[in-house]
Amino acid sequence: VKKKAGKFEKQAKAVRQTAVLGAGIMGGGIAYQSASKGTPILMKDIKEEAVELGLKESRKLFAKQVERKKLTTEQMAEKLTLIRPTLSYGDFGHVDLVVEAVVENPKVKDAVLTEVEGRVSEGTILTSNTSTISITRLAQNLKRPENFCGMHFFNPVHRMPLVEVIRGEKTGDAAVAATVAYARAMGKTPIVVNDCPGFLVNRVLFPYFGGFSLLVEQGADFQRVDKVMEKFGWPMGPAYLLDVVGMDTAVHAGEVMAEGFPERMGQMGGDGTKSAIQVMYENERLGQKNDKGFYAYE
Ligand code: NAD
Repeated sequence: VKKKAGKFEKQAKAVRQTAVLGAGIMGGGIAYQSASKGTPILMKDIKEEAVELGLKESRKLFAKQVERKKLTTEQMAEKLTLIRPTLSYGDFGHVDLVVEAVVENPKVKDAVLTEVEGRVSEGTILTSNTSTISITRLAQNLKRPENFCGMHFFNPVHRMPLVEVIRGEKTGDAAVAATVAYARAMGKTPIVVNDCPGFLVNRVLFPYFGGFSLLVEQGADFQRVDKVMEKFGWPMGPAYLLDVVGMDTAVHAGEVMAEGFPERMGQMGGDGTKSAIQVMYENERLGQKNDKGFYAYE
């Protein structure tokens, strides 16, 4: 499934102005990373509070850089001006590349992608940060599917080096080239992968979450599982990782994986029984985003 990212870069069109749709965990992180490396970005959400939270998180991350003397306060202020929060598509006519990072729901993504395609210029590259939904599937209602591909970041965006660039059936080379170039400009390591539910990383990660969930359902202590996996060498255990990802996102993504690979990933929501992750979600223990998940946060 792997293609060398480098081969696309020579054809890349310049990505000078970008936009992200959704100012949540991922959208906020993408805006920070883009601004941090010098590419201006519009950050659009449908909720004022979300945009404010996205900006607040960015401010916090930049402030840490100032504390560590990696940035001056003037540089921080300058970088913050590169993130332009908005609730409208007003300035989208001049955007070279858009990253869609709204909730992991195919219907919502379809609506948002169709909407944004009508507001950008013909050459604008549209990308989706979906964790699991097939890019070919998301392209089906687009008028210019050749301009569309996946741009899958990992959480937290400022720390995770990898970006999966996903090629749908109709994705053109120019879209891949621009997305690879933007990922590199953001200081990331892009890898071009073919399309399927979960792409590469989540095809590995979701069975792991499923295995963890089953252990908990059978009575295992999640904190002990986390400790064991840390000793095994992972930077964090699965319960903590799920808190970082968000239980809502994990459940929705799990459903897409179960639908795509029913025999292998049914335990994530496809076989009618509830997983421990679904039970957490239904009890509104979403993880770090609402301060309570497997662990409690302040
Ligand atoms: P989140 O719930 O933190 O944020 C989603 C944001 O989208 C919210 O602020 C919401 O108000 C906004 N939104 C909803 N509808 C919108 C619309 N029509 N226009 C603009 N904004 C809208 O979710 P998240 O964790 O940031 O996930 C976003 C996407 O990134 C999902 O597709 C998810 O699968 C993917 N992703 C998540 C992770 C993770 O670890 N959380 C990692 C990689 C990819």
